[in-house]
Amino acid sequence: MSKRINKIEVDRELCIGVASCIGVAPEAYELDEEQIAIVLDDWKTLSDDTLFASAESCPVNAIFLYDKDNKQIYP
Ligand code: SF4
Repeated sequence: MSKRINKIEVDRELCIGVASCIGVAPEAYELDEEQIAIVLDDWKTLSDDTLFASAESCPVNAIFLYDKDNKQIYP
């Protein structure tokens, strides 16, 4: 099955470090020294479903998902 998600970004201005995203997808995110989520390369090993769930888990919609045409598909 081909994946829709081609890029993930965390908006550092929006992220409040609650780490819900890490709870859903610990392979894809970690908190840096400023307690802001960063995206790990291993996100590529996860399914679109898990990645959508991780983005949806963010209470402040700080996780942005893009397709291969760089079109924003979430939020
Ligand atoms: S769930 Fe959202 S606010 Fe919380 S760490 Fe992840 S990106 Fe940041």
